[in-house]
Amino acid sequence: MIQIHALPAFSDNYIWLLQDLSTRRCAVVDPGDAAPVLGWLQANPDYQLSDILITHHHNDHVGGVAAIKAITDARVYGPAGETIPARDVALHDNDRIEVLGLALQVILVPGHTAGHIAFYHEGPEKPLLFSGDTLFAAGCGRLFEGTPEQMHTSLSRLAALPDHTAIYCAHEYTLSNLRFAQAVEPDNADITQRLAQVSQLRSMDRISLPSQLGLERLTNPFIRVHVTSVKEKADEWNGRDNASPSEVFASLRDWKNKF
Ligand code: ZN
Ligand code: FE
Repeated sequence: MIQIHALPAFSDNYIWLLQDLSTRRCAVVDPGDAAPVLGWLQANPDYQLSDILITHHHNDHVGGVAAIKAITDARVYGPAGETIPARDVALHDNDRIEVLGLALQVILVPGHTAGHIAFYHEGPEKPLLFSGDTLFAAGCGRLFEGTPEQMHTSLSRLAALPDHTAIYCAHEYTLSNLRFAQAVEPDNADITQRLAQVSQLRSMDRISLPSQLGLERLTNPFIRVHVTSVKEKADEWNGRDNASPSEVFASLRDWKNKF
């Protein structure tokens, strides 16, 4: 059985730790800092780190890889299209790998970076997605290397996964994302309710993740670009008729950057 929990890093990153309770092996996703991972391994000496999964090349996701690899010799998986330190396995769109006995499918999701990938485990009961800096809870990553069209396509691919898919993203941005979501959809009761829930969690310094895709479909404006009221707000922001969903997305992303 696989258990997943978050190792906090820097001010708002999460390094996801996967533990196989039967074999006592473990894996991490996006270790931007080695210290939280090495500290956990020291506190849990019966566990061996066998795998490191990387979604994209930014330093807050790969900064700890070399130091962790040097100590554990874990196998490093990362996107083929980016420069990843100590990478052993270069991953392409739709590749399938097995980590701790868990079958994972690689989904190429360019936009935040040009070669960003996500890792999807297809249920049946418990599908899960490691979405890095692409799909956040109630938001999405900034466009550093890709176009709005690319990011819209990437998010649409992720949004097509099953409703009960658990979303493990790499940052605690949920509260500020929901404040923006509420500005886009002031009459959306699901957003209002989620904002209250997450405000309470964060006031107790508790994690707001993982999310669920069904909840994202109800509350994340960046995958709600087909909704008429969302389009109208996007039109208001950039002062034109955004005819396509990716134009609506581009306007929302620009608005959020300045929010
Ligand atoms: Zn990033
Ligand atoms: Fe990041």
